[in-house]
Amino acid sequence: MNYEKLLEMKRKMLCAEIEMNGLKAENEQRSVNQQPMTYSEGDFYRLIDKYDLGISIKQEIIKGEWLEIENSLKKYKCSICGKEKQYKDNFCPNCGADMRRKEE
Ligand SMILES: [Zn+2]
Repeated sequence: MNYEKLLEMKRKMLCAEIEMNGLKAENEQRSVNQQPMTYSEGDFYRLIDKYDLGISIKQEIIKGEWLEIENSLKKYKCSICGKEKQYKDNFCPNCGADMRRKEE
């Protein structure tokens, strides 16, 4: 998964979150007025399909690499998120990008 796709996924997640909060607010409002809830569990799960969130980020592994930094105590930085590290780990601890090389 490249950075643009990651941003797109984040955008969809944000849209889903905003809509979910809207549904929750509506339910809470009705609850205060002692009316039955408008939205049930199924309505919340439908947001997953609506925003195409069924495919988890983990399924499509982000490939990154450690870039060497000069003149810094931290020697490497993640090519995906920019997290700095002293050692080359197999995965970025910040964004989870897979840093292993293809031949491994
Ligand atoms: Zn990273």
